[in-house]
Parts: sequence; structure tokens; C-alpha cells
Amino acid sequence: MDAVSVASSPENAVVRPVLARAVERARAALVELNEGSVGDHLGVTAEDDCAATHRFEAKLPGYNGWQWAVVLAAAPDSDHVTISELALLPGPDALVAPDWVPWNQRVRPGDLSPGDLLAPPENDPRLVPGYFATGDPEIDAVAYEVGLGRKQVMSREGRLDCAQRWREGEYGPDSEMAKAAPSTCELCGFYLPLSGVLRAEFGVCGNEMAADGHVVNAAFGCGAHSDTTLPTGTGTPRYDAYDDAAVEVVEAPAVDEAPAEPGTPTELEPPLDSASGN
Ligand code: SF4
Repeated sequence: MDAVSVASSPENAVVRPVLARAVERARAALVELNEGSVGDHLGVTAEDDCAATHRFEAKLPGYNGWQWAVVLAAAPDSDHVTISELALLPGPDALVAPDWVPWNQRVRPGDLSPGDLLAPPENDPRLVPGYFATGDPEIDAVAYEVGLGRKQVMSREGRLDCAQRWREGEYGPDSEMAKAAPSTCELCGFYLPLSGVLRAEFGVCGNEMAADGHVVNAAFGCGAHSDTTLPTGTGTPRYDAYDDAAVEVVEAPAVDEAPAEPGTPTELEPPLDSASGN
């Protein structure tokens, strides 16, 4: 909801008495217009020495917070007031439509779906003319590598823009993943550098367990780096390993074959604690 003011001049500008007094004249004009109920008088502001705007509450369904504005005029030194203009305008608390956006600016990154066509705008600053192929396969092979043979190539401005986006994005050096990585993409075997000027800073990750297929910054990194090594040994270093294949032979204590008197504790059965009452 936008705050909109209908005042076209400072509230404290002096309104000529002849204009300020004409509240009922302004209300009558609105009643005569017959476009909806007219509520309380909200105030008057000066437009200039000869004009002032009276505002009234507009009681129209769907127009909460809107106001009727009646612009009155009076010639210098005249007591005669005339109606110049009637308008329905949004007040400070009115619900108003969002700013209009031209249709060609409404598509946002991520809106493109399979089958959609999206042409670059005319004179797109991200693109500059390329050069047509010569027809000589050897020259064209080299030319295509460096971007010739295409009708348009990215401008310096376009490359700088996308470099900044990628650097500040999910696969940039300041991401949480990069900060916790053991090393950088630049030193990773899965890193496939781009060609051209972006090669110095960007490549594509070829590790399906990591940022596979995404452009990553050379200073990005992750735990799936090709030089990652796991700690040697097994189990946790806090405890000795338990070898369930080893067998330790121990001699069993001799067991008295004679039946024990009832209530007599055996070696395997500790005597009851008499103090506990058990
Ligand atoms: S595996 Fe990780 S460190 Fe290696 S290129 Fe991919 S994202 Fe970078």
C-alpha cells in the first residue's frame, strides 16, 4: 500500500477566505456530479492565490481511503467562486495499484519455461556485433573459438555483469560452502575452466556429487574436491577397535558340583546386603 498525498501545496499555505469558506459550494458540486456518497469535509489547501482544493471523504464501495477533491477558483479581489475541477484521488491510506511496469520488463530471471521464446531487447547493452564466418574452414575454426562467426557476442558490460552475479552467487568465494571447503575449485581435478576472458575466474564443475554443470568461481570449493582425503584407519580414534574375528581363550572357574544349601550365596551370586533389608 503506497502513501499518497493529494496536497499539491504546503498545508500551511494561506487560503483566501473566499475560497476557504466555500465548503458547501464544493460539496454541492459533488452532489450534482452524482457519482457516489460524499462524506465529511477533510480540509482545504491552497493551489495558488486564486485557487484552492477542498477534500471530502469518498464513500464508494472498493475505494477505501479515497477522497473527493474539488478545485475552486476566485479571481483576485472577487467574492465569486467557480468550480474548476472535480476528481477522485487516493488519500494517504488508500489502497492503490502498484506502479505500472511495461510488458517487456515483466519477465524476470527464472521465468523462462520450456518452449518460451525470449528475444533480447533492441540495443541490448549486453551484446555487441560479432563477425560473419569467412567460409575458410581453417580460419573459421579459429574464429569460432574466439567468438567470431557469431552474429553477436557479449559486450564487456555484459561480461562484467554476469561475472559479478556469479561471483556473488551460490557458487562464489563468499558462500558458506566455499568457506568450509578444504581447497578451491581452481586446484580441483573436476574444474573445467571457461574459455575467453572469464577463464581467469570461472569454470564449470564436472563432479556429479558436487556443483555438477554449474559455473563456479575459481575461489569456490567444496568437500568433494578431487584432493580430498579421508582420515586413515577405521572407527573413531577415541576408542580401541573391536575385532570380532579374534578369539580369546580363557579358563572357566571350577564349579562346585554339590548342591548348595538353600540361602547359601554362590560365587556367582553376591550375598544379600542385610542392612538394605533385601
Ligand atoms: S568438486 Fe567442488 S571443488 Fe571441485 S570443481 Fe566441483 S565444486 Fe569445485
